[in-house]
Amino acid sequence: MNLHEYQSKGLFRNYAIPVPDGVPISDAVDVENAAESLGGDRWVVKAQVHTGGRGKAGGVVLADSLEQAHSEAQRLLGSVLTTHQTGPQGLPVHEVLIEKPTVIARELYLSVLVDRATRRVAFMASQAGGMNIEEVAAATPEKIITISVNPVVGLQAFQCRQIAFAYGLEGGQIGELQAIMQGLYKLFMEKDASLIEINPLVVDEEGHLLALDAKINLDDNALYRHADLLQMRDLTQEDAREAAAAEHQLNYISLNGTIGCMVNGAGLAMATMDLVKLHGAEPANFLDVGGGATAERVAEAFKLILSDSNVKAVLVNIFGGIVRCDLIAEGIIAAVTEVGISVPVVVRLEGTNAQAGLEMLNHSGLNLDTADDLTAAAQKVVALAAG
Ligand code: GDP
Ligand code: MN
Repeated sequence: MNLHEYQSKGLFRNYAIPVPDGVPISDAVDVENAAESLGGDRWVVKAQVHTGGRGKAGGVVLADSLEQAHSEAQRLLGSVLTTHQTGPQGLPVHEVLIEKPTVIARELYLSVLVDRATRRVAFMASQAGGMNIEEVAAATPEKIITISVNPVVGLQAFQCRQIAFAYGLEGGQIGELQAIMQGLYKLFMEKDASLIEINPLVVDEEGHLLALDAKINLDDNALYRHADLLQMRDLTQEDAREAAAAEHQLNYISLNGTIGCMVNGAGLAMATMDLVKLHGAEPANFLDVGGGATAERVAEAFKLILSDSNVKAVLVNIFGGIVRCDLIAEGIIAAVTEVGISVPVVVRLEGTNAQAGLEMLNHSGLNLDTADDLTAAAQKVVALAAG
């Protein structure tokens, strides 16, 4: 689960990480009150959407007057913001953050994440703030430094200084960075975050550090112990099909291709996607119906896949280990009868009672193709999608 920038900044304040003063609003009539409470005569208007790249997409604007702040808030609220990270469908803007502008002397990058290679929490830092970190990593990897935190002793002062020197900070800034990093580490651990990113972390005109942007991703598996964070969830920012899948305990991720995939087991799902790609098409989704796939879940999975208008053909790939293939075949037949299908479907069954299952499908009178070998199934579904 992701948080909005203003929610992340709220958490930052609780951990003494400095951020600009700001007020989130969801109606342009509130601009005046927000601006008044912040003071000054210029304001930053920031679209609150679960994506980066807002600045370049017109989602972050510096307003020189109250009228401009009002008109920018009005323009953004209710609009759909498309950035290089969102895909063409974009994300709806229901809230904007009105902020006191900061005069920026330097833009830095700082993040905390779980480094799977070292199995530790790591800090990543770069002097190239404000830029897309993936681009920095690709073009100038030497500009990124990483430190990993020993879980027994926690984040150490010397590690903070290491990053401070890499940034070229001086004097009091070094202590400020240390306080920010300690706050981030505490926040990361206490809230079960999987990523916290500050891009940019800025040095302002007085030489002080503050977080101009804030992004927090939380570990979904730990949300059950954070009722307060769960309340911040904004479903309008999430893929509707992914949310529906979660409701039925289906592991579903939307992708951009044309082959709908229904598979049991995450590893088999990955292998199935690989084979689809190998034979020249792109998967429309990742979908793991789980080990105990029932007829009902198979039906829900079919509905999900078919609700994606990009799907040109469906590949069902089930291994009957925990479940029996004849039961799965029953489920597929029930699902297809209920949902109806408008695109070709290829089914590959393997494992317990596979032969019985395939025969049921072949004699069902439904327009289902079967295959008993994964390569043949992948080739068939790719050809059907193209034709
Ligand atoms: P993102 O584009 O979604 O990552 O949104 P950010 O919050 O990072 O804002 C994008 C850019 O807008 C920043 O990198 C800054 O260059 C600029 N910006 C945001 N807030 C301020 C501000 O208060 N003052 C100034 N001068 N620039 C700002
Ligand atoms: Mn940013």
